Amino acid sequence: MSVSLASPLSSPVRSPGSARLGRKAASAGRERPALDNRGVTLPPLAPASLLSRLRPLARRVGLGSLSGCGLGAIDGTLPAIVRRGEVASLVGVKRCRSPWVCPHCAPRLAARRAEVLRPQVASLLRQGYRPWLVTLTLRHNRNSSLDELFGLLGKAWSRLTSGRQWASLKSAGVEYVRGYDLTHGENGWHPHIHAVFLFSSQVADPSAEAQRLLMRWIAAIRSLGGDVLRDGIDAQPCADAEKAARYAAHLSGVYEASAGVKKQCKSLTSRTVFDLAQAAVRGDEVAAGLWSQYAVATKGRRALVCSQGLSLAGEGDASEDAAEIEAQQALEEPAETVAVIYPAALVRVDPYMSELLEAAARSASDCRAALTRILGPPAFGVWRPSG
Ligand SMILES: [Zn+2]
Repeated sequence: MSVSLASPLSSPVRSPGSARLGRKAASAGRERPALDNRGVTLPPLAPASLLSRLRPLARRVGLGSLSGCGLGAIDGTLPAIVRRGEVASLVGVKRCRSPWVCPHCAPRLAARRAEVLRPQVASLLRQGYRPWLVTLTLRHNRNSSLDELFGLLGKAWSRLTSGRQWASLKSAGVEYVRGYDLTHGENGWHPHIHAVFLFSSQVADPSAEAQRLLMRWIAAIRSLGGDVLRDGIDAQPCADAEKAARYAAHLSGVYEASAGVKKQCKSLTSRTVFDLAQAAVRGDEVAAGLWSQYAVATKGRRALVCSQGLSLAGEGDASEDAAEIEAQQALEEPAETVAVIYPAALVRVDPYMSELLEAAARSASDCRAALTRILGPPAFGVWRPSG
């Protein structure tokens, strides 16, 4: 077994950057823009528009928290559109906090978690730890159920991080962050693990340990009845704390929190979940079906876990239920309140939220003019300009 594994495994553990450059070159010029049914290129919808248009689909698959994200006021507060610099946002509303499906919450959670992890990874680097970015995949086909694939990944991960060999590595010193990434393509769902392993200075040969982890991954998946394509697994050293933190925390295709710019999926044929959501709300029934499968399969799953030596938002690894979004909003205390929107009017402004935020980012008066067009002049119980 070791002979048959030695050759394919020697190639996945590459020198820094080599795999990435290879993939980039292979996919250069193949970015696939969103097309409508007449082949016209459509720009991606802004997160607030996408969320608004996803609500009916979210309701249909029983995701009440997503369908109501941003539509209810936090107890004791009045929702408001606020502006800080050139960035506008709606604050004072309850959010779903889904790291998987929400166009509003997922990128913010990912950014927040990467931010929380970065100084911890940097601190381990200073203590002599060496981070490795590891991609763990499994073989799948068009008929593989996403739920089963997630189940298999989860069980194999448990095997990887338990047992005698893991205990021995752990006693030398290892920490990890485990995230997921996922696309859908010609061969169906492709969920995979993005993990960062940090090996302490007591680990004599991190490269050999990374190879051993890949070998143990293959063995774990096979013992569970699955298979692994060796080209799909990968381990690379990484000395950049920020890159390492983002690697595990971000689902590809998630909106960038600050700019609202979508990362394009680099493959010609595979789509990210956010590509699927964009297509679904524009009437693509197949994409809507796939997005629904994804929403159901990820419900209640932990997107990110880490070892005991690392912590997410100081709340251990149970932070998905914690008030991270509110904490983030508190950090971004508004410089200017543009308009107060009473809770009863939130549903009415929801379809226009992207336009309102864009207007608010330009100027308070632009936003107030837009609100007057949508809701009429300021009125008690509807909205009022602030200040
Ligand atoms: Zn949300």
